[in-house]
Amino acid sequence: MGRKALRCAVCGSPDVVAKIEGKYYCFKCGSALILENSKKMLQELKRKYLESSA
Ligand SMILES: [Zn+2]
Repeated sequence: MGRKALRCAVCGSPDVVAKIEGKYYCFKCGSALILENSKKMLQELKRKYLESSA
């Protein structure tokens, strides 16, 4: 497998470090996406926790 010219799906940077859900991201966009995802996940967990303890 040769190294294709991968590009970040958000900013188009060739400095790709992560593949998330089939798309490639540079460090900056990838970490922002992961942060965003974990925020959503936390909110979801919080919501479930509050529902189950109600
Ligand atoms: Zn990027």
